[in-house]
Amino acid sequence: MELWFTEKDTENVRFSIKVDKQLYCGQSDFQRIDIFESPEFGRFLTLDGYMMLTEKDECIYHEMIVHVPMAVNPQAKRVLVIGGGDGGAVRELTRYRSVEKIDLVEIDREVVRACRRYLPQTACRLDDPRVTIRYEDGLKFVRGRKGEYDLIIVDSTDPFGPGEGLFTKEFYGNCCNALNDAGILVNQQESPFYHADAVAMQRAHKRIVESFPISRVYQAHIPTYSSGHWLFGFASKKYHPTEDLKAEEWNRLGLKTRYYNTKLHLGAFALPEYVKELLEDVE
Ligand code: SAM
Repeated sequence: MELWFTEKDTENVRFSIKVDKQLYCGQSDFQRIDIFESPEFGRFLTLDGYMMLTEKDECIYHEMIVHVPMAVNPQAKRVLVIGGGDGGAVRELTRYRSVEKIDLVEIDREVVRACRRYLPQTACRLDDPRVTIRYEDGLKFVRGRKGEYDLIIVDSTDPFGPGEGLFTKEFYGNCCNALNDAGILVNQQESPFYHADAVAMQRAHKRIVESFPISRVYQAHIPTYSSGHWLFGFASKKYHPTEDLKAEEWNRLGLKTRYYNTKLHLGAFALPEYVKELLEDVE
């Protein structure tokens, strides 16, 4: 008998991965948590039946959500990661000696527990002495904070369920206040391809544009995400993501990556015409 994991991308599109076995299944106060073993993608995490990460392609997402802002401000010292309970973004951040403090605000303790046990590839640096894990709602955590961070990374689920609040104007406005004057916000910003994802992407972009003076969108190809075409938001009070890229300084760090490099950084912000139109429609 064959076992398959299937994600519903739209009413008419399914994405399936052959599964060897299920390693974990749990129901937290916030969501259903599943971890599988697969021949093609290794181990993978799903939340409420939606793909979150696989061992084979998580490096793309975590390198792009961390190294893009860090190559613009390689001296970022105080970083807030909202969501990201699998630890992949934290793992990439701990590779920077300049980073002094990482606050990880993850609403669901069970996600961290399951990833520590079954996904050491991403959770391997959660015990770094610079990391503080707070099990609370990121929307509430940022309220009232002023100038505390150089970088905020919103590594959230999709804009429904516990993640819904992390796509609101209130949240982005509070993130702007929680950043210092040179602060950068990056967020996973859904996909431009299927209609429902594109609408969610436009809504997030509009709210970020209304909260930050500089706001751009970049892209990556993530095979196991809906359509494979994934977007990230880059917003800042001071830095432009390509004009202020510190390529030489970043390259001197000698960080070995599997996807990110400073030439791809520039290319990631060169968007397809249909994506530019979607963004311009809400700017
Ligand atoms: N980093 C992975 C990837 O490659 O895309 C997946 C994202 S990570 C698993 C998303 C996390 O956001 C989940 O662990 C979820 O519990 C957390 N989350 C959702 N809503 C949240 C909220 N309001 N505050 C804090 N964390 C939240």
